[in-house]
Amino acid sequence: MSTLYAPVTICAIATAPGRGGVGVIRVSGRDLLPFAAALSGGKQPRPRYATYTDFYAADGQAIDNGLLLYFPGPNSFTGEDVLELQGHGGPVVLNMLLSRCLQLGARLAEPGEFSKRAFLNDKMDLAQAESVADLIDASSESAARSALKSLKGAFSNEIHVLVDELITLRMLVEATLDFPEEEIDFLKQADALGKLQTLRQRLQQVQATARQGAILREGMHVVLVGQPNVGKSSLMNALAGDDIAIVTDIAGTTRDTVREEIVIDGVPVHIIDTAGLRDTDDVVEKIGIERTWQAVERADVALVLVDSRDGVTTELEAILERIPPQLPRLFIYNKADLSGDAIGLSEQDGRSVLHLSARTHAGVDLLKARLLELIGYSGASEGVFLARERHLDAIRRAAEHMELAHTDWEMVEIFAEELRLAQNALSEITGQFTPDDLLGVIFSRFCIGK
Ligand code: GDP
Ligand code: ZN
Repeated sequence: MSTLYAPVTICAIATAPGRGGVGVIRVSGRDLLPFAAALSGGKQPRPRYATYTDFYAADGQAIDNGLLLYFPGPNSFTGEDVLELQGHGGPVVLNMLLSRCLQLGARLAEPGEFSKRAFLNDKMDLAQAESVADLIDASSESAARSALKSLKGAFSNEIHVLVDELITLRMLVEATLDFPEEEIDFLKQADALGKLQTLRQRLQQVQATARQGAILREGMHVVLVGQPNVGKSSLMNALAGDDIAIVTDIAGTTRDTVREEIVIDGVPVHIIDTAGLRDTDDVVEKIGIERTWQAVERADVALVLVDSRDGVTTELEAILERIPPQLPRLFIYNKADLSGDAIGLSEQDGRSVLHLSARTHAGVDLLKARLLELIGYSGASEGVFLARERHLDAIRRAAEHMELAHTDWEMVEIFAEELRLAQNALSEITGQFTPDDLLGVIFSRFCIGK
């Protein structure tokens, strides 16, 4: 086992905060049998079996009783010895047990440190480690299913195949460099360009799948604009449909929901209702609202809701002034059941608008399709694995280098160099070629106990 860091024993409460039937503390380190014995009054837990035991404080008093699990390295999540202490899920008793672990020489784990150790000990690559966090954070079933695919290596395998083929091609090109006179003939004969072309097509497919996966992970950000009573809440409910609508109140704004999250065909849709963004003197509320306006800046689309009997009013025009001019807008003429408008798209005052009724749901499917179209989501297919913006960026750079390799192939040294750079970009995804500071950033975004 190659360890790149001092193998200090780490521990953390792995279950969510609050009360629960069971609470779990995770410990990872080297040679944890003495640690287990000290906790359990001298027990020698059998690997991968549950040992029923009391957990003891330093003075010999029992803190709790529960199950002790022991996973000897390297066949554990982190690759080190891992203990799982399953006690009662109350915050006081869990903290007592955690303190006991600290007393026994462990220190508190940093966010993502268990996963980081798993990565450093070659238990999983970087894309897989990231999918651990993504699986836990998944906000729709489709996202969770795709995250599990990445965790099991579906994405990494695609990248490995590409990297292997790139290496084969690089060997061919580099070998050519030794024969300056016949370089070009040699490459032509070996069909180097044909091979590169196949690689580029394959990368394109991976890119398309990864893009769908990134949409599932990030979801879509929608800004809702409209005067009171035009039907914003009704439309939100109509969009949420059979999916469970997860309603979250932003801290500081108790009067009105500013952010909501719904799911459309498996895609998480984050909605910011600008109607909740009123001026305020409350400092805390102000910070929350500022942050929300920043989110508005980064949104994908603004849904401008209008009562179709009134059309776009001067009051609405004033509200529209407040949203960023470059933000794409989709005008929704609601309450078509009252105005008698035909359901569907039309032109209104030079604007493309969608007529629908949030009450009868007529036209709501059209809106869903339009929204998914806007972010380029083509439906959850079986093969989609979860991906991150970081992965898409690496794929984009690899594609650029392959394109340059193609353009400049007759300058064989450039051809070789661009292929090398393409390989490095792809290897960032699995972490074979990833700077340390990037690793720090990636794992620090995990939560404690992962
Ligand atoms: P909000 O203030 O913009 O969130 O508007 P609400 O969703 O609370 O709706 C205001 C009122 O309009 C409620 O009484 C809704 O039932 C009604 N309403 C919303 N959409 C429609 C619609 O499409 N047709 C009809 N007839 N009434 C609607
Ligand atoms: Zn409302």
